[in-house]
Amino acid sequence: MSNELFDFDEILKYSPTDELIVSTYLLVDGARVTKKDYLSELNSMIAKTRDNIEVASGFEKSRQKNIFNTLDRIKSYVGDAYKRENEKTLLIYAGTDSELWKVYKLPIILKSKILVDPKPNTQSLRSLLSNYKKYGVLLIDREKAQIYQIYLGEIREYLAAYISEVPPKVNFRFESGLREKKILGKIDEKLHQFYRTLNENIFDFFKDNKFDYLILAGRKEIINEFKNYLHSYLSAMMIGTFEEEPSTHEHIILDKANKIISDFESDNINHTIDKLINELEPQGFGVLGLKKTIDALIADNIKTLVFMEDYTARGYACPACGYLTLKLQEKCPYCDNTLVNFNDIVDEIVESALNQGSEVLPVKESDKLKECGKIGAVLRYKFQR
Ligand SMILES: [Zn+2]
Repeated sequence: MSNELFDFDEILKYSPTDELIVSTYLLVDGARVTKKDYLSELNSMIAKTRDNIEVASGFEKSRQKNIFNTLDRIKSYVGDAYKRENEKTLLIYAGTDSELWKVYKLPIILKSKILVDPKPNTQSLRSLLSNYKKYGVLLIDREKAQIYQIYLGEIREYLAAYISEVPPKVNFRFESGLREKKILGKIDEKLHQFYRTLNENIFDFFKDNKFDYLILAGRKEIINEFKNYLHSYLSAMMIGTFEEEPSTHEHIILDKANKIISDFESDNINHTIDKLINELEPQGFGVLGLKKTIDALIADNIKTLVFMEDYTARGYACPACGYLTLKLQEKCPYCDNTLVNFNDIVDEIVESALNQGSEVLPVKESDKLKECGKIGAVLRYKFQR
């Protein structure tokens, strides 16, 4: 089964019916768990869900049976058909009466859980989607231009414009016309109009929230020509260019764009880590290390969470309200429930931060962050010592 990352609409715009939907989040991160681990986690979640349905749901037998069949279907998919790649979390939405079946492979760790509800559980998914930047790639040729959107590592193609669609005769308004004719130089009028149309189309695409950052691609002289037409707002969003022929296959475009994106993102991350360590933490606008990061999280004070991707930590969590702590306490101080010991609470931290609207930056490599406790946060407001 292929990744359906771009196919979120059906889930996000789902209207509840009588049908129950099983939403399964399963942490499959290769740095944290083996296949055996995640299969046994899935089995125990399924067993717990079955118990809850049998004991507490009050559903009729036939309805229960449909749910159990769906859980079996999920179990056999994960056990037999599913092959783990680079994803950190597997997300499955399965209908209990209908054919609804969606599998997403998510690039960030989320807490494993199964929920049975009249609609897909999308809170974590929505938080996750808002955390990821969208990149637009505009591939330009003298005949046509294409826009690609790259999001969560997947590429999607849109048509930007054909030069053949540009009206043959252009009516400039007098004043701007004169100015434009001077810029024109050797570029013929039709091409000039093509670039203008293209700039408008890509700006509409941007206003439509289709990308946060832009990459230009094409032959060097065309990119350089077109840059003069690009809206200043978009120029500021440009993170790079690469040379490419318009007939190139999508996966080559994705590869080249990914190189630019990953350089851009790692520059960003390194900059954030440096600033956190050198400026923000000393000034009280940042924290480093697990204990203080958890305190900031509980105070809803995390603007940006940074953590080493492979970092794991033991701790205790309240199953009811999500309270986290490193030390065992009798009861949750907020809701009096019994705390549960977790081998790894980093996924809980990441998920809570996402749900609080924090930006979350997983870090692949950083000696500086490693030395400073492997986790930290830029704060929303100053931390009182
Ligand atoms: Zn609690």
